[in-house]
Amino acid sequence: MNIPDYPHERTPGFNAATLDRKAEWRTDEQAREQALDSAVLVPVCRYRMPMRGDVLETLPARQFAERLDQAIWLGLWNQRSVYTLEVTDAEAAQWPELHFSDLRGAAMRLQPDDAAVMAYARAMIYWAKRHRYCGRCGKATRPTHAGHVLRCDACDLEHYPRSDPSMLVQVSDEQDRCLLGRQPGWPPGMWSVLAGFVEPGESIEDTVIREVWEEARIRVTGMRYFASQPWPFPASVLIGYHAVGDAETPQVEQDELEAADWFSREQIAEGLRSKSFFMPPPFTLSFRLIEAWYDHNAAQPLSALIGRR
Ligand SMILES: [Zn+2]
Repeated sequence: MNIPDYPHERTPGFNAATLDRKAEWRTDEQAREQALDSAVLVPVCRYRMPMRGDVLETLPARQFAERLDQAIWLGLWNQRSVYTLEVTDAEAAQWPELHFSDLRGAAMRLQPDDAAVMAYARAMIYWAKRHRYCGRCGKATRPTHAGHVLRCDACDLEHYPRSDPSMLVQVSDEQDRCLLGRQPGWPPGMWSVLAGFVEPGESIEDTVIREVWEEARIRVTGMRYFASQPWPFPASVLIGYHAVGDAETPQVEQDELEAADWFSREQIAEGLRSKSFFMPPPFTLSFRLIEAWYDHNAAQPLSALIGRR
């Protein structure tokens, strides 16, 4: 595998937050209280994020003083304390200057730091909404640790935020072609790397081997870790690999992929030029995996072909 190491400055979207999570403040109410005057809050309405234009817009946390025990403290961002709180439609309507937008749809236009804070807020709100009751005894939970623990007093169980690991893999063959797949329902011409959830009791490497076999009937003979990306849609962390596979003709199972095929750089370049080939946008780990493979042996970088970074 000749693909070079991944340059950290090219991390995919939702990474590289300048936010300091400062976990010790989750149990330090006094520290949070002292920082309240300049603190801000990210209201989240139906998992939509508050924006003004393409910029994250926050509100003074003081406005929510009576409800901060229900808010989740995210950390310190640009020296300011940041909370997030779920709000109702009626509340959201009180702030006409904010428009609440879908993070996934807006991510391509956002500043990386804003996108990272929104991804964190969205993931925490999603987790908290789904753990209002204890999974063991069914009684109501209550937030502690500034919203980072949901505690069941009835049976003494503490619930912690979770991310579901999911792997993405860019497979090359010995001719240095790239294996891409299409899921049913994707727009015409859209292709991406293969992906799958890590199952309980399974290593990520085993997931790579299993999914490439299940989805394309290709045997993986080697792999290397590439990079990762939080993916709060709703609760994943994506773990990216480069792999080498047998140069067999891919065979798809209809309940997994609609199609899978090997692509040369020339095919991809020609498809992009003629607009008959598309892939996920540049903030995604999928794009970065394809780009890293493409660029290590191409006259012109992939970003030049799609016209943006
Ligand atoms: Zn319980």
